[in-house]
Amino acid sequence: MSKPDFAAMSRLSADIDLMADGKATGFVRVPHSVHRSAYGWIPIPIVRIKNGDGPNVLMQAGNHGDEWEGQIGLGNLIRSLEPKDIKGRLVILPSANFPAAMAGQRTSPIDDGNLNRSFPGNPEGTITEQIAHFIEHALLPGFDYSFDFHSGGSSLAYIPSALAARLGDEARMAKVLGMLKAFGAPVSYLAAAPQGGGRTFTSASFRQGVVSMGTELGGGGLVTPHSLKVAEDGMRRVLAHIGLLQGPVPAPTPTRLTEIGGDDYYVYASDAGLFEPLVDLGDEVAKDQPAARIHFHDTPWREPVTLTFKRDGLVLCKRIPTRCERGDCLFHLATDVVS
Ligand code: CA
Repeated sequence: MSKPDFAAMSRLSADIDLMADGKATGFVRVPHSVHRSAYGWIPIPIVRIKNGDGPNVLMQAGNHGDEWEGQIGLGNLIRSLEPKDIKGRLVILPSANFPAAMAGQRTSPIDDGNLNRSFPGNPEGTITEQIAHFIEHALLPGFDYSFDFHSGGSSLAYIPSALAARLGDEARMAKVLGMLKAFGAPVSYLAAAPQGGGRTFTSASFRQGVVSMGTELGGGGLVTPHSLKVAEDGMRRVLAHIGLLQGPVPAPTPTRLTEIGGDDYYVYASDAGLFEPLVDLGDEVAKDQPAARIHFHDTPWREPVTLTFKRDGLVLCKRIPTRCERGDCLFHLATDVVS
């Protein structure tokens, strides 16, 4: 039996040719018939810049709508790059879950869909599932490299970081490590290997044979000059490293190579209440060190609960909002990769 034509199943289509030479800007159209617009479509911005032969590269941000460095950085890249500046093909999808980005939310206001938990998608599913299906089956095939620019969003903040999944294939892993070093975020980390059935863009890229890396650039719903500089300088250095961007790039910056492992790297809220952090991003902590207190503002005479770290590590990520519920992630750690 021949493989079904997944791309042809999609209701979505780009209104520019993604393979042609030159620079073109347009939209991926998502048909969406609603009260105010009977035959309307949702316009997801997309850009193609191509100059002859070279690597095929997809850069995406706004997978989570409230993560901004990638969206701003890719906008700046779109306006500054011309075909003569590159060799190969660069396709940019700066606000992949466009309804979420326009609402300033992690998830889509249309269907509550989390795009990065929706792959491989469904051509007949919700709007978010249709976007995931289009990205995995119509967009990703044929690319050599993909980049997914995340940050902590509204509820988390990270030390600006780049990340990649651990791969069994040593040659591919070496390629990815070279990309992390070229990107040059203050911290890089290796995460769990992509799963065949995984629901993230990383897993989608893995299934489609595309070498992929991502970022966690900052967060808290904010952009800072530092986090945006990490994003933009990193984008240019890594595009030059893989042979797409021609000409000078920002000077290299060192990265600290770390990894995140199992559940013991995380601290979760045990109770609903007010989260008092006892450490900050960048701190080096030890096993059993107090991480946070949770205060009970409904019964303030009750002693707060103290939560501790389950292992040593670097505080890579922390929760931003003070009010927490049981099960909210408060911190996660990273540890140096010992080679
Ligand atoms: Ca994210």
